[in-house]
Amino acid sequence: MISGVSFHLVCGFEAVMCQVEEDYNGLECKQEKIPVPTLNRKCMKCKEGTAVLIIRVSDAFCRSCFKEYFIHKFRAMLGKNRVIFPQEKVLLAVSGGAASCSMLAQVQEGLSRDAPKKLRFMPGIIYIDDGGACGRSSEERQRSIDQLKSIFTETGFPYFIVPLEQVFSLPTSVLVPGTSDPDPSNPSYKQAVDQYIKENQKLTEEEAASAVAQLRIEESVCSPEHKLALERLFSSLNTLTAKEDMLQTLRQHLILHIARENGYSKVMMGDSCSRLAVKLLSNIALGRGAALASDTGFSDPRYGDVVIVRPMRDYSSKEIAAYSRMFHVPSVFISGLDTKTHDKASIQRLTESFVTNLQADFPSTVSTIYRTSEKLHTVIPSQGQTTEPASKCLLCLCALDTNVDKASAFHATLVSEQLSQIKLQDTSHDARHCAEGQGCGTGGCCSSNRSPEHQDLKTLLCYSCRLTIKDTGAVDALPPYIITEAEKRQKRSRMKMEISEYLLEDGE
Ligand SMILES: [Zn+2]
Ligand SMILES: [Zn+2]
Repeated sequence: MISGVSFHLVCGFEAVMCQVEEDYNGLECKQEKIPVPTLNRKCMKCKEGTAVLIIRVSDAFCRSCFKEYFIHKFRAMLGKNRVIFPQEKVLLAVSGGAASCSMLAQVQEGLSRDAPKKLRFMPGIIYIDDGGACGRSSEERQRSIDQLKSIFTETGFPYFIVPLEQVFSLPTSVLVPGTSDPDPSNPSYKQAVDQYIKENQKLTEEEAASAVAQLRIEESVCSPEHKLALERLFSSLNTLTAKEDMLQTLRQHLILHIARENGYSKVMMGDSCSRLAVKLLSNIALGRGAALASDTGFSDPRYGDVVIVRPMRDYSSKEIAAYSRMFHVPSVFISGLDTKTHDKASIQRLTESFVTNLQADFPSTVSTIYRTSEKLHTVIPSQGQTTEPASKCLLCLCALDTNVDKASAFHATLVSEQLSQIKLQDTSHDARHCAEGQGCGTGGCCSSNRSPEHQDLKTLLCYSCRLTIKDTGAVDALPPYIITEAEKRQKRSRMKMEISEYLLEDGE
């Protein structure tokens, strides 16, 4: 949540207009009236209209030029990157926040009959109801769902409202990257456009519209067992940092699953430039350096067959707030994990307040931070290339950054951790006692009979996800698809080791 973003008004004073709602968690934008500027400054673009807001120091826009600028930026972002094909099914991840709701409004705008350059993809909407993890009451959850439903219905796009509890019935295949060519520079883009134009001459616009409306509209309910399981999982996470990280991971898995099930090959996220700056900095603090490029870049190919795109990454939260207020983009306030927490409650929260303050005092610094991620993107090779599941992190599906050479500091840390574990087991543990099934009470070997132990699970995770799992009190509270897939991978790697040992012996 980026709150208290100030607006530089033309009349020369700075006023805190409203609490700006950011993607996924934030405060509702109170519909306050913009004071009429007393000084008649002209729009820098048309030189005629009266400026109503200033984006950067010298950019004053009138109402209609601001709208044009905002819409153009969205098209330009999609046009420049050329990753979305005509008639491709694209799932818009909407959280109710101003950023993702503006994204939805931009897609609607782009698909409208009178749009100058019509968008050609087939949109669908997904909302993940994470109320169970954030401690919202069922009444609160229902109220938000009803509000969102009316926004979604208005668009005419098919939509999915999915409770986070559904992660407890996900299949293990979610954790396996799909195989398809996610290369954004794919030369067949032009072919696809030509093909679309040819086909579309036969298809009238009404037919196309009804095809969209006929798509399945899905709303799933959650069982009481899953509700309890989710509560147990989140109460087993010891820190807010770990909770936020886990929520993010599970939400991604669920979106990925729904996208795959329904033939969506792209997922659009509403991350703004300000949001990505927060993500980038907190990722560094969380040890997610290796995943920076895919976590914050325009397109994220880590899942292989479903590509995540972030078309809002050029907008600041200030622009988004101004646009949604001026053009009445409906959004819904939904409290998140960090609502009502103080600035230092988690690493993510701390970074957020840092970036918010930075944005207020030094607006250009924020875009500098986020532009860093663009540079990273070109340096780090695409992560979609390796499809072998064992080479990817079990939880975030990024390339494993933990398979480092034996001379590194990271390896040294691992060795010393392992040594201390062995010592602990030797001194304080009676193996026979455990074998009798009486339980050792230490939560060590006995609990590992039911679920993979911390130590084992660790080998399948990237550095950052290891830290999250370290903050988990009960690994067996994780959803079954994660535990099952972990066991599968562990078995496979044990077999591999046995085979290589056998081959070595054989060679002697
Ligand atoms: Zn103008
Ligand atoms: Zn990971």
